[in-house]
Amino acid sequence: MKSFISIAIDGGAGSGKSTTAHNISNMFNFLNVDTGSHYRSITASLINHNISVKDALNPKNLNKILLSSKIIKNKSQIQINGTSFSHAELRSERINLNVSRYSSISSIRSLLFKYQKSQCELAKKNKFSGIVMEGRDIGTIILPDADLKLFLFANESVRHQRRIQDGESDLIQKRDLLDSTRSIAPLSEAQNCVKIDTSKFSQSQVVTQISQLIKSL
Ligand code: C5P
Repeated sequence: MKSFISIAIDGGAGSGKSTTAHNISNMFNFLNVDTGSHYRSITASLINHNISVKDALNPKNLNKILLSSKIIKNKSQIQINGTSFSHAELRSERINLNVSRYSSISSIRSLLFKYQKSQCELAKKNKFSGIVMEGRDIGTIILPDADLKLFLFANESVRHQRRIQDGESDLIQKRDLLDSTRSIAPLSEAQNCVKIDTSKFSQSQVVTQISQLIKSL
């Protein structure tokens, strides 16, 4: 195995990215970076400051946003001006309804591009054996040279079932449509990605398949 491994996981809402990233990062001592939480945190911060999507189009309104990271176990948590948001806040209906609109703004994506790329250095500095980063544009834009690029998907009923289990109110089809049709960094498969239909396998089968791919790197 290589001395430092980078894994990119992309896929739509409810495709199983977070659980997979969690399990893989624990198994291999990789830093786990959930980029959806970055967009959710910025959305929460802007909404709390009454900055609408229209206001956020003006880069001046983003000037005051300072990003930093805190590592908790093997998970990197984003902080906006020194503050992090709770899981419940980030997964609330209010954020689920708005995050795709804020994440389609190019200046917000530029702000996160640098931050997300820098997570590899953070992982190395903190002696992790690699990084697993999940989102919508990881294999295509953030880590196009990742050692392994994965694209996860699942059928509608399984995706809905997962959201119900999470206790979330989330219009996943609407979010996916917005995320895959936006003009900037749309959700799409990276070249040479390995596609996995997570509705066909148990989570442990998915992890076994991926861990075999990692061990062969
Ligand atoms: O992965 P999660 O469902 O938490 O992502 C929330 C939202 O953040 C997505 O619906 C998408 O609008 C945005 N996102 C993105 N690019 C990423 C990760 C998430 O645009 N790399």
